[in-house]
Amino acid sequence: MGLNNIKIRKDFGKLKNWIGNKEVDSLATNFIELHTPYTGEVIGHVPMGTSADVDAATKSAKEAFKVWSNTNIKERVQVMFRLKALMERDFDELKQLVSLENGKTLAEAQGDVAKAIEVLEFGCSIPNKISGPMQEVSNGIYCQVIKEPLGVVASIAPFNFPIMVPMWTIPIAITVGNTMVLKPSEQVPLGSMKLAALMKEAGLPDGVLNIVHGGADVVNALCDHPDIKALSFVGSTKVAKLVYGRSAMAGKRVLSLGGAKNHLIVMPDANIETAPAQIVDSAMGCSGQRCMAASVMLAVGDVEKHIDGMVAYAKSIKLGEKQGTIINKQSVERINKYINEAEKMGAKVLVDGRNMKPVNADMTNLEGGYWIGPTLIDHVSADHPAACEEIFGPVLSIVRVKTLEEAVKVENKNPYGNAASIFTTNGAHAQYLFRNANAGMNGVNVGVPVPREPFGFGGWNDSKFGNGDLTGDQGIDFWTQDRKITTKFIEPQTRNWMS
Ligand code: NAD
Repeated sequence: MGLNNIKIRKDFGKLKNWIGNKEVDSLATNFIELHTPYTGEVIGHVPMGTSADVDAATKSAKEAFKVWSNTNIKERVQVMFRLKALMERDFDELKQLVSLENGKTLAEAQGDVAKAIEVLEFGCSIPNKISGPMQEVSNGIYCQVIKEPLGVVASIAPFNFPIMVPMWTIPIAITVGNTMVLKPSEQVPLGSMKLAALMKEAGLPDGVLNIVHGGADVVNALCDHPDIKALSFVGSTKVAKLVYGRSAMAGKRVLSLGGAKNHLIVMPDANIETAPAQIVDSAMGCSGQRCMAASVMLAVGDVEKHIDGMVAYAKSIKLGEKQGTIINKQSVERINKYINEAEKMGAKVLVDGRNMKPVNADMTNLEGGYWIGPTLIDHVSADHPAACEEIFGPVLSIVRVKTLEEAVKVENKNPYGNAASIFTTNGAHAQYLFRNANAGMNGVNVGVPVPREPFGFGGWNDSKFGNGDLTGDQGIDFWTQDRKITTKFIEPQTRNWMS
């Protein structure tokens, strides 16, 4: 792994917006540097767009909506079938782009693209899922529901899955007939631009997908724009709340997915062969920068052997080979601060990723990159920041508890509610978690319990603001509105209150 293995260009110049199926200069006067987290080297410059950019993209999407929404869904979906073929053709390049801009290992980047394709496959199935119900509700009177698109919609993405998160929304929102303005994270804008080019090649008409680069100004303009009917957001809780409130005030339908602090309960009866590696992989995979990563392990009773296994496995992970980078320098500082503070407050650092250097002979200049190795901290108290706040790094805080009930109480106290998992071979323990955990996505012997299609993705509490889920069948509901039709062509022989 490493920059030398990434065989694509590494200078992307000044990025442009994507409007009307072509690159268009941003109206921004301010550009920020785009770094590869491997080395900290500058690989491009990203415009910090303005409300005028959002306006131009929305105009293009609004115009395209007139034709796209009237194109039959069986025709619309053909673009998605062709996109799947093109994503498979360019799988390697997509994977390398993700690795370059986000710092994932190539294996992790492969997962990002593969999961995006899975959502796309779901998008391809929508024409067979979307037929609404019809019933004769009274003699000769029929009620029917038709799912219709909303209009221009917006999708705002975070840095941690440059291809997958935009693809949580694109195949569903666009196949059902909406047109879109996408705002990728300014830290990983390249994957989205490649997707847009592939969609054009797949035959997506001009203006159906538009991209505006930038930060808070672009997000605020999307929330406020009167021609944008619905908006999805994925990112931190602080911003998710702001976006939810601002968009709702502007009368939009909004689903805003926020941050997480995921708990993983380990029972003494957990499989000693498989659980330790799975637990560590959940916490350290993608350098802990997954909203579904285990962040707190609730160790119930005597699980010393499991912890020994975790320590051995975590120490075997080679930074720069099996584990990639942190997204930026500020994040490295934030994560290290949590580890330092936990240690100061008496926790024991069992595996220390601070100052760990990547190992790989073929890599150059990696000292400038943003690295933290796998970190396991034991005896963290349940109310310590490392056990309560989102760290978003390769750090697992182990909190010792005596019983399963106590473990669930700790989990319940947390304001987030994305994932909660249990490692056990006892069905009753698993049932207890389902009945009592205050989190939307639960796992049994699964460290990263992401629901796969057709099931929807979304947490509870401070991990999600708004109704429904973003992907799967619930995604179709979010991106459509129901038209309810009542018809009568034959006069009934006897009239009643309904006729
Ligand atoms: P972030 O909230 O900093 O940024 C997300 C998006 O919001 C970006 O496009 C960014 O440009 C924009 N933004 C940033 N600050 C803003 C502001 N003040 N006003 C308006 N817009 C703003 O998140 P991130 O650091 O890119 O991503 C990591 C976070 O995303 C973590 O908290 C993680 O848990 C969360 N996440 C959640 C899910 C989920 O499904 N719940 C999935 C992936 C990531």
